[in-house]
Amino acid sequence: MSAKKTAVVTGAAGFLGSHLTDRLLAEGYRVIGMDNLITGNVRNIEHLAGNPDYDFIKHDVTKFIFLPGKVDLIFHFASPASPIDYLQIPIQTLKVSSLGTHNALGLAKEKGATFLIASTSECYGDPLEHPQKETYWGNVNPIGPRGCYDEAKRFAEAMTMAYHRAHGVDTKIVRIFNTYGPRMRLEDGRVVPAFIGQALQGRPLTVFGDGSQTRSFCYVSDLIDGIYRLSQSGYHEPVNIGNPREMTVLEFAMAILKHTGVDLPVIHKELPTDDPKVRQPDITLARKLLGWEPKVDFEEGITRTIAYFREFLAIKS
Ligand code: UDP
Repeated sequence: MSAKKTAVVTGAAGFLGSHLTDRLLAEGYRVIGMDNLITGNVRNIEHLAGNPDYDFIKHDVTKFIFLPGKVDLIFHFASPASPIDYLQIPIQTLKVSSLGTHNALGLAKEKGATFLIASTSECYGDPLEHPQKETYWGNVNPIGPRGCYDEAKRFAEAMTMAYHRAHGVDTKIVRIFNTYGPRMRLEDGRVVPAFIGQALQGRPLTVFGDGSQTRSFCYVSDLIDGIYRLSQSGYHEPVNIGNPREMTVLEFAMAILKHTGVDLPVIHKELPTDDPKVRQPDITLARKLLGWEPKVDFEEGITRTIAYFREFLAIKS
């Protein structure tokens, strides 16, 4: 029997799940990854094949999770995360953060494990407070097209706090803001892979609305570092992790054209319903609690991400 601690990661073949797995293995954990591969891709974890500290189980976590042996830490990261994905599969999106969270919490209770849920800045909806602090309760349309994601994640937070309060499970909640980096899915519809893919393939960049809406983009290694630190902390309420550098979507489009070195037009498309007008994390709590700070600046992060997609497209063609 290994003396190593065991971590379970749901959504293990996704963008964040796979980077989190790499970090956990580097920290000396044994990792059991689970994914039903609806939006995850084995390509993200193929480098782990043959690693004696890694096991992968293809499983839909909305179904009962049975795992023999000890488990020390559970990261519930399974969920579609791009607006286009959750518009196409709204019921799976609702189920994975409700039934899936219940099952993952049940496993944590059974094993006496620590539990960390990937929540989201979408809990704040189209925010009326800016930047967003953890104390803000949000402005969410429960019945709009994004409601399936936002409300499922809000339910997941409520369920997590209930397991903490009623069953004494050691739980943590991270509210993840827009994150980017290698292993994002080229076709997932989110703005980072969309614009980079369009630029590298010589297509016009599709800006939704007038592009004045803002987002704040965090490089994936910074986000994972914040999440790992939170998992080792004794704090149970939600913590924002994200990069406060805010820009408009139009500024972001211009930055992608500059960093890919191409000259392409921008075309405007209809703004999706309930698309938040602003988003920027207040990270005062994470700074104080975790001694955490994003380190990778936008220019460096976007250069690495473009290099990843260049290589990906070269392999594909
Ligand atoms: N967006 C855009 N063009 C695209 C994809 C997205 O202008 O091809 C905009 C979208 O309307 C939103 C922002 O970029 O205002 C970020 O969208 P994303 O889907 O990445 O995630 P969100 O932050 O909305 O969850």
